[in-house]
Amino acid sequence: MDKYILRMKPIFQEKIWGGNRLNTVFGYDIPSDHTGECWAISGHPGGDCAIVGGPFDGKTVAGLWKERRELFGNLPGDLFPLLIKIIDARENLSIQVHPDDAYAGAHENGALGKTECWYVLDCDERATIIIGHNASSKEEMARMVEENRWTELLREVPIHKGDFFQINPGCLHAIKGGTLILETQQSSDVTYRFYDYGRLENGKPRKLHIAQSLDVTTAPFAPWKGEQEKAKAGDAEITHLVTCPYYSVYHGVLDGKTELTFDKPFVNLSILAGSGTLDGQPVKKGDHLLLTADYGEARLEGKLEFIYSHV
Ligand code: ZN
Repeated sequence: MDKYILRMKPIFQEKIWGGNRLNTVFGYDIPSDHTGECWAISGHPGGDCAIVGGPFDGKTVAGLWKERRELFGNLPGDLFPLLIKIIDARENLSIQVHPDDAYAGAHENGALGKTECWYVLDCDERATIIIGHNASSKEEMARMVEENRWTELLREVPIHKGDFFQINPGCLHAIKGGTLILETQQSSDVTYRFYDYGRLENGKPRKLHIAQSLDVTTAPFAPWKGEQEKAKAGDAEITHLVTCPYYSVYHGVLDGKTELTFDKPFVNLSILAGSGTLDGQPVKKGDHLLLTADYGEARLEGKLEFIYSHV
Protein backbone atom coordinates (compact mmCIF):
# COMPACT_ATOMS: atom_id res chain seq x y z
CA MET A 1 0.00 0.00 0.00
CA ASP A 2 1.33 3.40 -0.94
CA LYS A 3 1.84 5.77 1.89
CA TYR A 4 1.48 9.52 1.77
CA ILE A 5 2.20 12.60 3.81
CA LEU A 6 -0.78 14.91 3.30
CA ARG A 7 0.09 18.54 3.97
CA MET A 8 -2.83 20.58 5.30
CA LYS A 9 -3.91 24.09 4.41
CA PRO A 10 -5.29 25.39 7.73
CA ILE A 11 -8.62 27.21 7.95
CA PHE A 12 -9.03 30.24 10.20
CA GLN A 13 -12.09 31.20 12.21
CA GLU A 14 -12.67 34.68 13.57
CA LYS A 15 -14.07 34.86 17.09
CA ILE A 16 -15.00 37.70 19.44
CA TRP A 17 -12.43 36.36 21.89
CA GLY A 18 -9.65 35.74 19.32
CA GLY A 19 -6.34 37.53 18.87
CA ASN A 20 -3.41 37.78 16.45
CA ARG A 21 -1.01 35.18 17.84
CA LEU A 22 -1.74 32.70 15.07
CA ASN A 23 0.13 35.26 12.99
CA THR A 24 2.74 36.52 15.45
CA VAL A 25 3.63 33.07 16.82
CA PHE A 26 2.98 30.77 13.85
CA GLY A 27 3.27 33.20 10.93
CA TYR A 28 -0.10 32.28 9.44
CA ASP A 29 -1.88 34.71 7.15
CA ILE A 30 -4.93 35.37 9.35
CA PRO A 31 -8.13 37.21 8.38
CA SER A 32 -8.09 39.72 11.28
CA ASP A 33 -6.68 40.34 14.75
CA HIS A 34 -9.74 38.60 16.15
CA THR A 35 -8.75 35.20 14.84
CA GLY A 36 -9.57 32.61 17.45
CA GLU A 37 -9.07 29.26 15.78
CA CYS A 38 -6.83 27.57 13.27
CA TRP A 39 -8.49 24.36 12.07
CA ALA A 40 -5.27 22.61 11.32
CA ILE A 41 -6.40 19.08 10.43
CA SER A 42 -10.11 18.79 9.77
CA GLY A 43 -12.68 17.12 7.56
CA HIS A 44 -15.57 18.76 9.40
CA PRO A 45 -18.26 20.50 7.29
CA GLY A 46 -17.58 23.70 9.26
CA GLY A 47 -14.03 23.79 7.85
CA ASP A 48 -12.68 21.05 5.60
CA CYS A 49 -8.91 21.39 5.08
CA ALA A 50 -7.48 21.25 1.57
CA ILE A 51 -4.35 19.25 0.83
CA VAL A 52 -1.36 21.15 -0.54
CA GLY A 53 1.05 19.51 -2.98
CA GLY A 54 1.55 15.87 -3.87
CA PRO A 55 -0.84 13.65 -5.82
CA PHE A 56 -3.88 14.86 -3.84
CA ASP A 57 -3.21 18.60 -4.25
CA GLY A 58 -6.49 20.54 -3.97
CA LYS A 59 -8.52 17.62 -2.60
CA THR A 60 -9.92 17.97 0.91
CA VAL A 61 -9.84 15.73 3.95
CA ALA A 62 -13.60 15.08 3.72
CA GLY A 63 -13.29 14.42 -0.02
CA LEU A 64 -10.55 11.84 0.47
CA TRP A 65 -12.44 10.37 3.41
CA LYS A 66 -15.35 9.82 1.04
CA GLU A 67 -13.50 8.69 -2.10
CA ARG A 68 -10.30 7.09 -0.82
CA ARG A 69 -11.21 5.54 2.51
CA GLU A 70 -8.32 3.08 2.22
CA LEU A 71 -5.98 6.03 2.96
CA PHE A 72 -7.57 6.00 6.42
CA GLY A 73 -7.43 2.26 6.95
CA ASN A 74 -11.07 1.85 5.83
CA LEU A 75 -12.34 3.22 9.13
CA PRO A 76 -16.14 3.40 9.36
CA GLY A 77 -18.12 6.63 9.86
CA ASP A 78 -19.48 9.62 7.93
CA LEU A 79 -16.85 12.03 9.17
CA PHE A 80 -13.08 12.05 9.46
CA PRO A 81 -13.15 11.42 13.21
CA LEU A 82 -10.66 13.89 14.69
CA LEU A 83 -10.21 17.64 14.53
CA ILE A 84 -6.96 19.40 15.42
CA LYS A 85 -7.12 23.09 16.27
CA ILE A 86 -4.82 25.77 17.54
CA ILE A 87 -6.79 28.22 19.67
CA ASP A 88 -5.65 31.76 20.43
CA ALA A 89 -7.78 33.09 23.26
CA ARG A 90 -7.05 36.77 23.79
CA GLU A 91 -10.27 37.01 25.82
CA ASN A 92 -12.15 34.41 27.84
CA LEU A 93 -14.15 31.79 25.98
CA SER A 94 -17.64 31.07 27.25
CA ILE A 95 -18.12 28.41 29.91
CA GLN A 96 -19.33 25.35 28.05
CA VAL A 97 -19.94 21.65 28.25
CA HIS A 98 -20.29 18.92 25.63
CA PRO A 99 -22.65 15.95 25.62
CA ASP A 100 -21.50 12.38 25.13
CA ASP A 101 -22.34 10.36 21.98
CA ALA A 102 -25.54 8.97 23.50
CA TYR A 103 -27.00 12.36 24.51
CA ALA A 104 -25.92 14.07 21.29
CA GLY A 105 -27.31 11.19 19.23
CA ALA A 106 -30.69 11.46 20.95
CA HIS A 107 -30.98 15.28 21.14
CA GLU A 108 -28.87 16.66 18.29
CA ASN A 109 -30.01 14.79 15.18
CA GLY A 110 -27.66 11.89 15.64
CA ALA A 111 -24.56 14.08 16.03
CA LEU A 112 -21.51 12.81 17.88
CA GLY A 113 -20.65 13.93 21.37
CA LYS A 114 -17.38 15.65 22.01
CA THR A 115 -14.34 14.67 23.98
CA GLU A 116 -11.43 17.07 23.67
CA CYS A 117 -8.02 17.72 25.15
CA TRP A 118 -5.72 20.72 25.44
CA TYR A 119 -1.98 21.10 25.32
CA VAL A 120 -0.95 24.57 26.53
CA LEU A 121 1.46 25.98 23.92
CA ASP A 122 1.88 29.27 25.72
CA CYS A 123 0.07 31.42 28.25
CA ASP A 124 0.33 34.66 30.19
CA GLU A 125 1.97 34.53 33.58
CA ARG A 126 -1.17 34.34 35.67
CA ALA A 127 -3.38 32.57 33.14
CA THR A 128 -6.11 30.21 34.34
CA ILE A 129 -8.73 27.93 32.88
CA ILE A 130 -12.10 26.76 34.11
CA ILE A 131 -12.34 23.03 34.49
CA GLY A 132 -15.13 21.50 36.53
CA HIS A 133 -17.25 23.06 39.26
CA ASN A 134 -17.70 23.12 43.02
CA ALA A 135 -21.33 22.01 43.36
CA SER A 136 -21.98 18.75 45.17
CA SER A 137 -25.09 17.87 43.12
CA LYS A 138 -27.11 19.00 40.09
CA GLU A 139 -29.66 20.58 42.44
CA GLU A 140 -27.00 22.67 44.10
CA MET A 141 -25.59 23.59 40.70
CA ALA A 142 -29.02 24.71 39.44
CA ARG A 143 -29.50 26.80 42.57
CA MET A 144 -26.09 28.46 42.21
CA VAL A 145 -26.88 29.30 38.58
CA GLU A 146 -30.24 30.77 39.54
CA GLU A 147 -28.57 32.89 42.20
CA ASN A 148 -25.82 33.99 39.82
CA ARG A 149 -23.05 32.59 42.02
CA TRP A 150 -20.75 31.87 39.08
CA THR A 151 -17.43 32.62 40.76
CA GLU A 152 -18.28 30.25 43.57
CA LEU A 153 -19.60 27.58 41.22
CA LEU A 154 -16.81 27.46 38.65
CA ARG A 155 -13.54 25.72 39.40
CA GLU A 156 -10.71 27.92 38.16
CA VAL A 157 -7.16 26.56 38.05
CA PRO A 158 -3.79 28.15 37.16
CA ILE A 159 -2.07 26.89 33.99
CA HIS A 160 1.46 26.85 32.64
CA LYS A 161 3.12 26.25 29.30
CA GLY A 162 3.23 22.49 28.63
CA ASP A 163 0.22 21.60 30.80
CA PHE A 164 -2.22 19.06 29.43
CA PHE A 165 -5.94 18.66 30.15
CA GLN A 166 -8.38 15.99 29.06
CA ILE A 167 -11.98 17.27 28.88
CA ASN A 168 -14.50 14.45 28.90
CA PRO A 169 -18.17 14.98 28.02
CA GLY A 170 -20.01 16.40 31.03
CA CYS A 171 -16.99 18.43 32.22
CA LEU A 172 -17.65 22.18 32.40
CA HIS A 173 -14.74 24.08 30.84
CA ALA A 174 -13.48 27.34 29.44
CA ILE A 175 -10.21 28.57 28.05
CA LYS A 176 -9.46 31.95 29.57
CA GLY A 177 -7.73 34.94 28.03
CA GLY A 178 -3.99 34.92 27.38
CA THR A 179 -3.82 31.29 26.35
CA LEU A 180 -2.60 29.54 23.21
CA ILE A 181 -3.44 25.85 23.04
CA LEU A 182 -3.43 22.92 20.67
CA GLU A 183 -6.69 21.04 20.88
CA THR A 184 -7.28 17.46 19.77
CA GLN A 185 -10.96 16.61 19.69
CA GLN A 186 -13.66 14.42 18.26
CA SER A 187 -14.88 15.99 15.03
CA SER A 188 -18.06 17.47 16.45
CA ASP A 189 -19.56 20.88 17.03
CA VAL A 190 -22.11 20.15 19.71
CA THR A 191 -21.44 22.69 22.44
CA TYR A 192 -23.75 23.86 25.18
CA ARG A 193 -22.92 27.38 26.29
CA PHE A 194 -23.50 27.68 30.00
CA TYR A 195 -22.29 31.19 30.81
CA ASP A 196 -20.83 34.00 28.71
CA TYR A 197 -19.88 36.64 31.31
CA GLY A 198 -22.82 38.75 30.10
CA ARG A 199 -20.94 39.63 26.90
CA LEU A 200 -22.53 40.99 23.72
CA GLU A 201 -21.79 40.04 20.11
CA ASN A 202 -23.14 42.57 17.59
CA GLY A 203 -25.12 44.14 20.43
CA LYS A 204 -26.77 40.92 21.57
CA PRO A 205 -25.86 38.27 24.11
CA ARG A 206 -24.86 34.93 22.52
CA LYS A 207 -27.36 32.14 22.99
CA LEU A 208 -27.06 30.13 26.21
CA HIS A 209 -28.12 26.51 26.73
CA ILE A 210 -28.63 26.37 30.49
CA ALA A 211 -31.09 23.47 30.56
CA GLN A 212 -28.96 21.22 28.34
CA SER A 213 -25.83 22.20 30.24
CA LEU A 214 -27.39 21.23 33.56
CA ASP A 215 -28.62 18.03 31.92
CA VAL A 216 -25.23 16.82 30.71
CA THR A 217 -22.84 18.21 33.36
CA THR A 218 -21.44 15.59 35.69
CA ALA A 219 -22.06 16.43 39.37
CA PRO A 220 -20.13 16.31 41.54
CA PHE A 221 -17.12 17.09 39.36
CA ALA A 222 -14.78 14.13 38.90
CA PRO A 223 -11.24 15.23 38.00
CA TRP A 224 -9.51 13.36 35.17
CA LYS A 225 -6.56 11.39 36.44
CA GLY A 226 -4.15 10.56 33.69
CA GLU A 227 -0.57 9.46 33.94
CA GLN A 228 1.94 10.80 31.48
CA GLU A 229 4.73 8.46 30.53
CA LYS A 230 7.92 9.61 28.91
CA ALA A 231 9.94 7.39 26.58
CA LYS A 232 13.11 7.81 24.55
CA ALA A 233 12.98 7.07 20.81
CA GLY A 234 16.34 7.76 19.19
CA ASP A 235 17.12 11.40 19.96
CA ALA A 236 13.48 12.18 20.70
CA GLU A 237 11.70 12.29 24.01
CA ILE A 238 8.08 11.26 23.56
CA THR A 239 5.43 11.91 26.21
CA HIS A 240 2.23 9.92 26.02
CA LEU A 241 -0.41 12.50 27.01
CA VAL A 242 -3.62 10.50 26.86
CA THR A 243 -5.43 7.50 25.46
CA CYS A 244 -9.24 7.61 25.60
CA PRO A 245 -11.90 5.81 23.53
CA TYR A 246 -11.54 8.39 20.71
CA TYR A 247 -7.86 9.22 20.44
CA SER A 248 -4.32 8.87 21.71
CA VAL A 249 -2.14 11.98 21.86
CA TYR A 250 1.64 12.27 22.20
CA HIS A 251 4.07 15.18 22.57
CA GLY A 252 7.61 14.92 21.22
CA VAL A 253 10.83 16.89 21.45
CA LEU A 254 13.62 16.03 19.03
CA ASP A 255 17.18 17.23 18.71
CA GLY A 256 18.80 14.90 16.18
CA LYS A 257 17.16 11.85 14.59
CA THR A 258 14.39 9.46 15.39
CA GLU A 259 12.26 6.79 13.76
CA LEU A 260 8.68 6.43 14.86
CA THR A 261 6.59 3.48 13.73
CA PHE A 262 2.94 4.15 12.92
CA ASP A 263 0.71 1.11 12.38
CA LYS A 264 -2.48 3.19 12.62
CA PRO A 265 -5.36 4.06 10.24
CA PHE A 266 -3.81 7.56 10.09
CA VAL A 267 -1.64 9.88 12.17
CA ASN A 268 -2.06 13.64 12.66
CA LEU A 269 1.25 15.43 13.12
CA SER A 270 1.55 19.11 14.08
CA ILE A 271 4.94 20.82 14.24
CA LEU A 272 4.94 23.23 17.19
CA ALA A 273 8.49 24.54 16.98
CA GLY A 274 11.72 24.24 15.04
CA SER A 275 12.44 22.78 11.64
CA GLY A 276 13.74 19.59 10.11
CA THR A 277 12.64 16.82 7.78
CA LEU A 278 10.08 14.05 7.75
CA ASP A 279 11.17 11.24 5.41
CA GLY A 280 13.21 13.79 3.50
CA GLN A 281 10.44 16.40 3.20
CA PRO A 282 11.15 19.71 4.92
CA VAL A 283 8.87 20.42 7.88
CA LYS A 284 8.75 23.45 10.13
CA LYS A 285 6.85 25.15 12.92
CA GLY A 286 3.19 25.59 12.02
CA ASP A 287 3.04 22.65 9.56
CA HIS A 288 0.23 20.14 9.96
CA LEU A 289 0.54 16.77 8.27
CA LEU A 290 -1.60 13.71 7.96
CA LEU A 291 0.19 10.39 7.52
CA THR A 292 -1.94 7.82 5.76
CA ALA A 293 -2.85 4.25 6.76
CA ASP A 294 -0.18 1.89 8.11
CA TYR A 295 2.48 4.46 7.41
CA GLY A 296 5.19 2.41 9.06
CA GLU A 297 8.56 3.97 9.84
CA ALA A 298 8.61 7.77 9.85
CA ARG A 299 12.12 9.25 9.96
CA LEU A 300 12.26 12.65 11.64
CA GLU A 301 15.40 14.75 11.69
CA GLY A 302 16.17 18.17 13.05
CA LYS A 303 15.29 20.27 16.04
CA LEU A 304 11.56 19.87 16.43
CA GLU A 305 8.76 19.98 18.93
CA PHE A 306 5.58 18.25 17.79
CA ILE A 307 2.28 16.68 18.79
CA TYR A 308 0.83 13.64 17.10
CA SER A 309 -2.41 11.78 17.52
CA HIS A 310 -4.34 8.84 16.13
CA VAL A 311 -7.63 7.10 16.74
ZN1 ZN B 1 -15.08 22.49 24.44
